[in-house]
Amino acid sequence: MDLSKLSPKQLLEIDACTRCGECLHYCPIYSQKGEEGINPRGKIHAMKRFIRGQYGLWAKLFGKKRLTEEELKKFSDMVYCCTLCGECGTQCPVSIDSRSLWFVLKEVLADLGHYPKPLKMMKGHVLQDHNISGHDNTQRTDWLEGIAGVPTHRYQKEKAEVVYFVGCVSAYFPMAYKIPQSFVSILERTGIDFTLLGGAEWCCGFPLLVGGFRKEAQALFQHNIESVKSKAAHTVVFSCPSCYHTWLKDYQTEFRLFDSTQFLLTLIQEGRIRFIEKKVKVTYHDPCDLGRVSGVYEAPREILRSMPGVEFVELPNNRERCKCCGGGGLLEMIEPDLSATLAKEKIREIQATGADLLITSCQQCLRTIQSTARKMKLRLKTTYITEIVLMHMEENEVKVEEKEIPFIPG
Ligand code: SF4
Ligand code: SF4
Repeated sequence: MDLSKLSPKQLLEIDACTRCGECLHYCPIYSQKGEEGINPRGKIHAMKRFIRGQYGLWAKLFGKKRLTEEELKKFSDMVYCCTLCGECGTQCPVSIDSRSLWFVLKEVLADLGHYPKPLKMMKGHVLQDHNISGHDNTQRTDWLEGIAGVPTHRYQKEKAEVVYFVGCVSAYFPMAYKIPQSFVSILERTGIDFTLLGGAEWCCGFPLLVGGFRKEAQALFQHNIESVKSKAAHTVVFSCPSCYHTWLKDYQTEFRLFDSTQFLLTLIQEGRIRFIEKKVKVTYHDPCDLGRVSGVYEAPREILRSMPGVEFVELPNNRERCKCCGGGGLLEMIEPDLSATLAKEKIREIQATGADLLITSCQQCLRTIQSTARKMKLRLKTTYITEIVLMHMEENEVKVEEKEIPFIPG
């Protein structure tokens, strides 16, 4: 195993784990499987043992210990069985950034060819077709067919100040079409000078990073940056928290980057969006990649609180403690039953609030929760935040003059 991918900080983190077990209380995978090797502590301990076998006194006296194929496979199974929810890192008393460790371990294992087989197909789709599902990439805006009054440019202008980066799931899964449909309608009604990239939008590369294929993701980063530059845009806005976070952390750009909730809140505060009163009791699910990973907790809550008639109740586990819906880390491809079990737990928690409607701001959470509720034969109303904003907006919104959009941190 090539350990050069681990930074000095990560090597220190591996060494610093005291095996206290605090992370075990929060890991959703461990709560279901109960195996020591699969929990954060077990994975870190396995790494520590391996490093000692390579560089410790034993290695100096008797030579480096080599891992067998069977040991590598077992370790790979442990590392990939993870939602990447990041809960393990939030309560670690010695502040180990374990989520970042899992990404590097996956890179090491993928280089050795030890990754779950279903990820091979996903990798092929992203690299050849430039989207996660292997569709024709020119069909990225088929969801526009569901909106009335689409202009002839089909929101794909030559130049615009803002690019709306839609993401693969919203572009290709009909269950999520309402997300870009409602967001585009809001942008249009509030007079934002925006464009889509259409077929020039490629997968952001996040699924490759999750699979451990960081090298391969670089070409996607570069392509998307050039596509935005070609529009002369200064701002990119996202309705997918994973795209948003990948651009923030892994793309080297000067563009101003907004998650949809931050962007909507700015429009509300500027008076571009006004609401009519509609009574409904809602709760909110914090997507892992928006909340714990990107630190955006308040923008969606402020939006909901600014809507007259909306009664907002928190889930018992909220913000940093929000439980993953089961849709993270490509777990649905790797262990679908386990993913569904986590989704069922989430649904039970939502039902206990007595809310009429679950709001979230991630297309993957929406898809995972909705499809599991259907399998459970439950009627659970679930909506992306742009949909409720559009539904509660005053009909005759006045377009206002273009002006600088300030950055509002989550
Ligand atoms: S909480 Fe941190 S120190 Fe404790 S076992 Fe987990 S990773 Fe190690
Ligand atoms: S990221 Fe989530 S699922 Fe993965 S080890 Fe940490 S707590 Fe468990």
